[in-house]
Amino acid sequence: MAKLLFTDGKVVTAEGSYRADVLVEDEKVVAVGTNLDANGAETVDAAGKLVMPGFIDAHTHMDMPFGGTVTADDWATGTEAAVAGGTTMLIDFSLQEEGGTLAGAVDAWTEKARGKAVIDYGFRVAITDLRDDIKAELPDLSARGVASVKIFMAYKGTPLYTEDDDLFETLQLSKEAGVLVMVHAENGDVIAKLQQQALERGDVAPKFHALTRPEEVEAEATNRAIRLAEVAGAPILVVHVSCAPALEAIHLAHERGQTVYAETCPQYFAFEYEDLAREGFEGAKYVCSPPLRDPSNRPALWNGLRVGDLQIFGSDHCSFNYEGQKEMGKDDFTLIPNGLPGAEERAMALWTLGVREGKLSENQFVAVLSTNQARIYGAYPRKGTLAPGADADVVLWDPELSTTATAENRHGNVDYTPYEGMSFTGGPASVYVRGSLVYRDGEVVGERGSGKFIERRFTATSGLEVRV
Ligand SMILES: [Zn+2]
Repeated sequence: MAKLLFTDGKVVTAEGSYRADVLVEDEKVVAVGTNLDANGAETVDAAGKLVMPGFIDAHTHMDMPFGGTVTADDWATGTEAAVAGGTTMLIDFSLQEEGGTLAGAVDAWTEKARGKAVIDYGFRVAITDLRDDIKAELPDLSARGVASVKIFMAYKGTPLYTEDDDLFETLQLSKEAGVLVMVHAENGDVIAKLQQQALERGDVAPKFHALTRPEEVEAEATNRAIRLAEVAGAPILVVHVSCAPALEAIHLAHERGQTVYAETCPQYFAFEYEDLAREGFEGAKYVCSPPLRDPSNRPALWNGLRVGDLQIFGSDHCSFNYEGQKEMGKDDFTLIPNGLPGAEERAMALWTLGVREGKLSENQFVAVLSTNQARIYGAYPRKGTLAPGADADVVLWDPELSTTATAENRHGNVDYTPYEGMSFTGGPASVYVRGSLVYRDGEVVGERGSGKFIERRFTATSGLEVRV
């Protein structure tokens, strides 16, 4: 393995920014500083670039069945899209099949990733059926390096939907089992009722997807999940927080001193409810859950990221083609597969809309994309930092790189991009995974199958202290 010295760049971590060189050997960072003993190292000129730890996207759905179809990106195209956005590790959802076990879910996703992933990865299991044998199996999951599970409070009428008693018991068991419980927090019962009423009225267009999932149903479920975690005495993570009322429940929990982690996503900053009302059936391209909101929510979400109520920024990359997949819901919005591609655009959107607009610092950018993800998901300090001993996952970020998204220049396998025509300033010039160059100047150069499964460990103290 080559020995590399990144020279003349500005190192940007979650803690601070400084001029330093970074020496890499045998897949690891060995030193960060000046006048390093770099005998025999190949030099990488990082002048004008920001040298950052590789980004982690702990919220993707590659090759995942949903609503009678399967996501458009597999582990090859999905990880290629991710690395083109500076991401060096994914944590993806493996679904417990009906009648299946947690180990079965991990095994199935291990096969999906094999020979395909160009970046490192981990799994989390979506528990869909909490049988007695599954309760007993939870600690084995953690022993396999799978340190988180997901519970869906939404999608009533599908196998994903979970009642409160099972959510609560999973939270109770999670402490001993060494896993962090994450929740999709929307009130599934109320959404099902609102959807039924909308269809009965003949309201079938994509915009009714958003109108039948109002902010309050997310806020109510967020608060309920947090309170159930409080009763169970367990930490919890709320993913894809989309609106101010849900964030308020998280903020109040932090004021009480409760350990609640929370994620938000680029689509809630780049798009809005009005996008679902685009002409024809175009709005289907913007159907995800929780839905896109009124932009009046954004100042609160930015503030949440700034003060630490929201610690992580994940893509929720869940790609479906317009043709043949989104179109399944042409006459009934409830049949539109839920999800947007965004793994490639995640960091560029955050830099363009957040850092350049003065809403976040470059160090907060690294924290929410990398360091906090590694800590909360139990991969720190192997991932999420450029300290000696960490994996040499390195992004050379060009703060002035100018790109415009179009379906043709995307690295994923989707027939549209919701970001069509949107321009970004700031992006990855090159990306290294464990010291190997995987992406440079718009092109993925890493080998499919070179990504590695990374074991993670979660303990209540391995996470991150929550501040308010
Ligand atoms: Zn998701």
